[in-house]
Amino acid sequence: MKINFDYHTHTTYSHGKASILENASKAKEIGLEGIAITDHGFSHMLFGMRRRKVDKMRRECAEAAQKTGIKVLLGIEANITGEEGKTCLKESDYENLDVFLCGIHRGVFHQTMKDLNKLLIANFNYVHNKKEVPKSLIDYNTRVYINAIKNNPIDIITHLNYLVFADAKQVAQCCADYGTYLEISTKKVHLTEKEWQDVFDTKVNFVINSDAHSTDRIGDMKLFYELNKDIDFPEGRIHNVGDKHPTLRFTEFKKHL
Ligand SMILES: [Zn+2]
Ligand SMILES: [Zn+2]
Repeated sequence: MKINFDYHTHTTYSHGKASILENASKAKEIGLEGIAITDHGFSHMLFGMRRRKVDKMRRECAEAAQKTGIKVLLGIEANITGEEGKTCLKESDYENLDVFLCGIHRGVFHQTMKDLNKLLIANFNYVHNKKEVPKSLIDYNTRVYINAIKNNPIDIITHLNYLVFADAKQVAQCCADYGTYLEISTKKVHLTEKEWQDVFDTKVNFVINSDAHSTDRIGDMKLFYELNKDIDFPEGRIHNVGDKHPTLRFTEFKKHL
């Protein structure tokens, strides 16, 4: 199994190492049909994409597509910034972007003090001190994801439960209900074997993404092959392999704006 499109790659516009053209050239070299450039969201203090650079990024994506002959989409890996499920995208950003990825990250501006205290500080403390995360915090984290999926046309939730633990099954069920994909990241292990099984019990569909921060990792499947020895990933529900392509919720949403 091999992916045909990598929907999650970073460039020097956030903290990736290569340019848009370099990412696209590598994708072409390894036989992908296309690639999405998805740098970190605007609310990231240090690494975030800047709105004033979006036009330049779009031009570079168009040039890279022309030079390589593959599709080069401009997306974003937005941050969920609080319990209400707000992200750092405004509706006025939508017309300039093709793909809407969303995840929870450290180092971002949060919606409220409560969100700062829980989403960043409490999660950090439990993970850092390797203590069991209390149910009340898991419930809060789950609400953060669910409200984001309900309230925003998110295409893909990135690396669910990496450093921030939610109820994976409830989040996956919400993704299934709203047509949002769950990412299988090949950058890092983000769900346990048990959580994957719970997720498979819902009707959610998947995309496999590299989350590459350098060109050598674009389209990388190594971690997936490793995980797939013990976890029986349902190939039919992975929509960027073989000749399958995902139906992107963001694209559908924008048709009705
Ligand atoms: Zn991320
Ligand atoms: Zn990423």
